[in-house]
Amino acid sequence: MMRIGHGYDVHRLVPERKLILGGVDIPNPLGLLGHSDADVLLHAICDAILGAIGAGDIGKHFPDTDARYRGISSLKLLGEVMVLARSHNYVIGNLDATVIAQSPKLAPHIRQMVENIAEACEADPTRVNVKATTTETLGFEGRGEGISAHAVVLLFQEFEE
Ligand code: MG
Repeated sequence: MMRIGHGYDVHRLVPERKLILGGVDIPNPLGLLGHSDADVLLHAICDAILGAIGAGDIGKHFPDTDARYRGISSLKLLGEVMVLARSHNYVIGNLDATVIAQSPKLAPHIRQMVENIAEACEADPTRVNVKATTTETLGFEGRGEGISAHAVVLLFQEFEE
């Protein structure tokens, strides 16, 4: 049994916030605004996994009205999503994600993002791919107003339920 899921997320860039992407604290004058650490990449991945197992979305599981999730590392949220997936015997077949940001340059941080995601998902890093692109200055990402991320994931059941 295989299941595919897709996730998409956007967060606004603002001053006096950290920029956390894929669990990596990236030096930048602006950071992402949100109730948690606003890790837009991990949120897209969480939504892809929740989509694959037919379990709704991240807002349903971790509502931004819940004080428990204020400032929380999204690696913890991803870990909880994977606990749910594994409770249905699903493991990561492979995961592919794209971050859309005009700046800063993300290439130096991709390897650490992949390692963080693989660890949170208890998956081999060879099953995780992260890409980054600009939009050639077009749109809200291109104007530096926000960062978006897409993720697709293929899950498979290790054994039938
Ligand atoms: Mg989000």
